[in-house]
Amino acid sequence: MPDSSYLDWPFLQLCHRELKAELEQWCAANSAGLEPDIEAGPSGLDAACRSLVTLLGAGGWLRYVVPELGGHERHPLDVRSLCLLRETLAHHSGLADFCFAMQGLGSGPISLFGSPELQAEFLPAVASGKAIAAFALSEQQAGSDVSALATRAERKGEHYILNGEKTWISNAGLADFYTVFARTGEAPGVKGLSAFVVPADSLGLSVSERIDIIAPHPLGTLQFENCAVPRSHLLVMPGQGFEVAMATLDVFRTTVAAAALGFARRAYDATLSHVLQRKLFGAPLAELQMTQASIADMALDIDASALLVYRSAWAKDSGQARVTREAAMAKLHATEQAQQVIDRAVQLFGGLGVTSGEVVERLYREIRSLRIYEGASEVQKVIIARNEYKRFKK
Ligand SMILES: Cc1cc2nc3c(=O)[nH]c(=O)nc-3n(C[C@H](O)[C@H](O)[C@H](O)COP(=O)(O)OP(=O)(O)OC[C@H]3O[C@@H](n4cnc5c(N)ncnc54)[C@H](O)[C@@H]3O)c2cc1C
Repeated sequence: MPDSSYLDWPFLQLCHRELKAELEQWCAANSAGLEPDIEAGPSGLDAACRSLVTLLGAGGWLRYVVPELGGHERHPLDVRSLCLLRETLAHHSGLADFCFAMQGLGSGPISLFGSPELQAEFLPAVASGKAIAAFALSEQQAGSDVSALATRAERKGEHYILNGEKTWISNAGLADFYTVFARTGEAPGVKGLSAFVVPADSLGLSVSERIDIIAPHPLGTLQFENCAVPRSHLLVMPGQGFEVAMATLDVFRTTVAAAALGFARRAYDATLSHVLQRKLFGAPLAELQMTQASIADMALDIDASALLVYRSAWAKDSGQARVTREAAMAKLHATEQAQQVIDRAVQLFGGLGVTSGEVVERLYREIRSLRIYEGASEVQKVIIARNEYKRFKK
């Protein structure tokens, strides 16, 4: 029986408990759709993702990634709902969680900073699953180091002209629009960046490469060659793009942690059932004390991660303007510990644990990227330390 005691923690309200129960029922009724067959190659993966976005939209779950339809009355997005949704979807299907998350991350800058016109143009289609969103920040020479970003946007009359390359972009080739960060040059480093909403069919925007990674995930490289974007598609003021990116990540980093928690819980539940059934030396594997030590470590890591995830989400929903420190702690701990939990699970499954198609083998591949994207673990440590120093200096 999966642990649901955390739903009674004071970070969560009745509406969250009801949301979780409703989503679990929906996942059970839609289990086949949540794990679509993926045909080989990028087009097979794209088709699977499209069907998942449609399914999630029809189920009404994508309403939660946009403010008008699913938000909390005092805040644009209810981060606790997003976390519960990601945790639960990740438990059932890594790809479904990915599709849900990207609708939020890709449209998050519009939800948080977009003009009413941009919100009206893009968000309803994101919420219904009719449009797919993407977030294009990283470049070959600018992953962790956003200040090295080289894609340029130059103002020409009522347009900005974008030139450059973005890589490691989730949903590249599949998205209907991209939130793109480019240098407008108001100041050096991160102070000279701006954020734009770029429709995928814009002239001068192309997908030059698709990137294959260890778990199914549509990823690719975008080229901008004299790509004209209307001035009205600029989010907030020129030079405030870094603020747009960081405020968006403040919300979505906590949800990455929630997804890691969902993967860890899935591995843990599978492990409990395995060690109770598997007989070794005349008794269940569960009775060996070293197994009990592993189970205790897994249970502890999961609860500690859940506390950090829902603390961060609750802090944001309670009106804290920025939760950079809390989100960094949640992401760092939950992703690193999920990797540990899943590794222990693989070990306890023995040969089965590394057999293709086994659930813990899949989770072992799926968890890995979460320690790298939206700020690698080392970056989260730097963020936490800087916040500690700031507090001490006050
Ligand atoms: C599956 C996947 C999906 C992604 N999706 C997107 C997307 O949708 N949009 C987007 O814009 N980007 C996306 N990315 C890119 C991702 O954000 C970057 O990969 C990440 O920021 C790391 O940048 P990098 O790969 O250039 O690694 P680098 O910046 O070269 O860093 C390499 C390693 O150096 C270490 N490191 C970094 N900083 C420090 C430090 N300060 N101190 C000590 N060590 C450090 C870390 O271990 C890090 O992993 C995705 C990446 C992956 C793997």
